[in-house]
Amino acid sequence: MAESVLNSWDRPAPERAGKPSVFALLPEDFAAMGAPGRAEHIFVQCQHPWAWVDSRPRVSREIRDWMAEHLDCALPQIVERHGSEDGSTKLVLALADGERIEAVHMPRDVRNPRVTLCISSQVGCAMGCTFCATGAMGIRRNLTAGEIVGQVLVLLLELGPDKPHQITLVFMGMGEPLHNLDHVHRAIQVFNHERGLNISTRRITVSTSGLVSGIEKLAKLTPRPWLALSLNATTDAARGAVMPVNRVWNLARLRQALDQWSPGPKEKLTIEYVLMAGVNDTLEDADRLAAWMGELRHGHNLNLIRMNEHAASTFKEPAEARLATFVAHLKALGCFVTVRKSRGRDVQAACGQLIHKGHPQV
Ligand code: SF4
Repeated sequence: MAESVLNSWDRPAPERAGKPSVFALLPEDFAAMGAPGRAEHIFVQCQHPWAWVDSRPRVSREIRDWMAEHLDCALPQIVERHGSEDGSTKLVLALADGERIEAVHMPRDVRNPRVTLCISSQVGCAMGCTFCATGAMGIRRNLTAGEIVGQVLVLLLELGPDKPHQITLVFMGMGEPLHNLDHVHRAIQVFNHERGLNISTRRITVSTSGLVSGIEKLAKLTPRPWLALSLNATTDAARGAVMPVNRVWNLARLRQALDQWSPGPKEKLTIEYVLMAGVNDTLEDADRLAAWMGELRHGHNLNLIRMNEHAASTFKEPAEARLATFVAHLKALGCFVTVRKSRGRDVQAACGQLIHKGHPQV
């Protein structure tokens, strides 16, 4: 894997018939395009999914005609819906060119109306992490900002919630979001806009495999989401074996990039560690993990994730006893650890399981 490949931000993301997507525009863009009517009103109507009943925003006929002439107003289409016994739902969405992506809707619990939406940023992924089904697909293309925003609007229209403050967004679906940073960041600008869904950056997390050039670029952008790092191994040899990105930017270089990230108030870095039996689950791994995190300059949380098994990988989750020993050892070393409850495993919706149906690996 060459650095030049990883730095190609804009792997083509199509603009249908040369028209920008209505969902990627901010109020100032509508104004600059000469939209008839108040630009802010048009933005508000376009960004509230509940205004899109019958696939039409609640704006005047004149504005609708203008939009139809100048903008791409197509939302992704739901082609499959898979409900998990744990209450989460995986939606398979078809994009305008026929490509498919997956997104997962995860309500907290029956008493809590808050919902986490796990969304995709690419069709497939170039990073090739060997434990991940999406990585087995390879990269097909980036999503446009309009497709990313449209994906969220479709999830909300179909499954709610209907109050934007109940939404948490995680870019942990298909793709490496920092490999499509321009479109991902434009989508975050739209999500964060006070007249749109107004989702605070504290409720938007971008998860990266360790694309250092992307971390450094994102660090300078505003608004800036919170960052999660998928670490998964504690030596360069082990990490390079399961995450090819480590052969370009090793653990030392990764730490350098993280140390330069200046966290906002209360912001914490999330470190994710997928536990794979016989790969990264020894007590020596736990020792190195504790040492690596202990040297991080910023506050952080450690999320351990059981390997979610799938047909595209031979890796297995560790036995419960092994997991418990690993956790106890980390705690004894002073680490604050959470074992993340995987959602949607029974419908292949859990972390690392998303893959284009019809792919030979499925
Ligand atoms: S874990 Fe993330 S970065 Fe790695 S292949 Fe899967 S989707 Fe891509």
